[in-house]
Amino acid sequence: MKKITQQDWEARAKQLTFPSQAFINGQWQTAQEGGHFNCTSPIDGQILTEITNCTQPDVDIAVTAARDAFKQQVWSGLTPAKRKKILFKLAKLIVQHQEELALLETLDMGKPINDSLTIDIPAAAQCFQWHAEAIDKVYGEVAPTPADTIGLITREPVGVVGAIVPWNFPLLMACWKVAPALATGNSVILKPSEKSPLTALKLAELAHQAGVPAGVFNVLPGLGEDTGKPIALHPDIDTLAFTGSSHTGKQLLVYAGQSNMKRVWIEAGGKSPNIVFADAPDLSVAAKAAAEAICFNQGEVCTAGSRLLVESSIQAEFLELVQQELSNWQPGHPLNPETQIGAIVDQSQLQTILNYIQLGKEEGAHLMVGGSQCLQDSGGLFVEPTIFGNVSNSMHIAQEEIFGPVLSCIGFDSTEEAINIANDTQYGLAAAVWSKDISKAHRVAKALRAGSVWINQYDGGDMTAPFGGYKQSGNGRDKSLHAFDKYTEIKATWINIQK
Ligand code: NAD
Repeated sequence: MKKITQQDWEARAKQLTFPSQAFINGQWQTAQEGGHFNCTSPIDGQILTEITNCTQPDVDIAVTAARDAFKQQVWSGLTPAKRKKILFKLAKLIVQHQEELALLETLDMGKPINDSLTIDIPAAAQCFQWHAEAIDKVYGEVAPTPADTIGLITREPVGVVGAIVPWNFPLLMACWKVAPALATGNSVILKPSEKSPLTALKLAELAHQAGVPAGVFNVLPGLGEDTGKPIALHPDIDTLAFTGSSHTGKQLLVYAGQSNMKRVWIEAGGKSPNIVFADAPDLSVAAKAAAEAICFNQGEVCTAGSRLLVESSIQAEFLELVQQELSNWQPGHPLNPETQIGAIVDQSQLQTILNYIQLGKEEGAHLMVGGSQCLQDSGGLFVEPTIFGNVSNSMHIAQEEIFGPVLSCIGFDSTEEAINIANDTQYGLAAAVWSKDISKAHRVAKALRAGSVWINQYDGGDMTAPFGGYKQSGNGRDKSLHAFDKYTEIKATWINIQK
């Protein structure tokens, strides 16, 4: 297959049509009264398009359409085989449109085109494929009842699901919610991030084309306060599935309490420890993984390995190796297929990262590599991958999610100390342990308060692995059959069969 060059991508970008309206009840619609917001590319500051900004009236219309579709069982009433066929078709359409989707994703949020094309978009298609396959493989249960009774335990769709998602993996995070919600027969109202709404809107088009009935899948772009808040407060939404910051997650819990006590499933931030013991199987492999763990997706990853805990006896040697690895991760033009670090999503996120770098210096951490904005001449938003050594776990740069390529390195002298430092955070999303001593590795893995733990690797997993956090990293699980828990009610039916 001919390789697509940067020039090819740039030429294609000029031909692109950008979605700009909301998709409600099977139709493209302009917001009633919210005006619009600019969709700006962080690659060069160009305004790609103006997007309609949905507010309360649009949310009301979408919820009514979603509720009607649910009541009329236009989706939940289909046989599982029929729903499966439609979701398979959607997965196929995502693959057929992968280059367009990848280009939209990269232009919108700045990630390298090669990542969009080979990671995000295939994973989105696979997410629909996997959940569609599961539709008719998940059965109910029969309770161990007395002879004159049958006790059935069945799962039913919850009804109308509101999904609010972030900007760092725009399409994929949307699919992690939408695929299991649709697979289990719900109607969905999706609100993408205002920083990266394009691929979610394209998903609406493809879902419609695949045969998802009108009203079942609605996509409402808009600002958090304008669109997200009315969704979270809406009395006729049954469940809210959220991925984003812990701060917003807490607000959504309040909104649910102020309205109809809808269930709120939260997937939030992280400050994940990557623990390297002196007996790691191969320090160069661990160093390569440590660099990737902080540089992948510009560090804008909830599971970024942002705290590197290294046993003191190998600290100098190991940090030298990580430094060498980091030199392979240089920011570049996101449409260049060789680029590994793209642009930061927007000016405010860039400023947040630069502020943390400044704070790290002021707190007395040792700036070993990077630390500056770069490639300013391009008009885009880029920052150098940055390593801080001599970090103490109480510093802001060790405790707070920076969401950029900024690594905080912390030394430790014993297994217990490593565990204590690793768990000394409000977050509990992910962690990694590197050691040849398999008992020690498992002991540490068991002691870590995190939803995902990797041993001798960083960031493994596939659709079978449930994904979510402990503590303020969240309260539910995406992916795997556990995801169905969010989108189903459990009903007990007790049947008297006495003569
Ligand atoms: P964010 O919380 O600012 O926004 C997330 C979504 O919530 C956006 O769509 C936004 O418009 C909306 N929102 C904001 N304020 C709202 C309000 N008052 N009411 C309703 N909706 C509102 O988060 P972000 O900056 O978009 O994303 C980055 C965060 O997401 C990071 O903390 C990252 O760790 C987290 N994240 C977590 C996971 C996971 O699976 N655990 C995955 C990806 C990202």
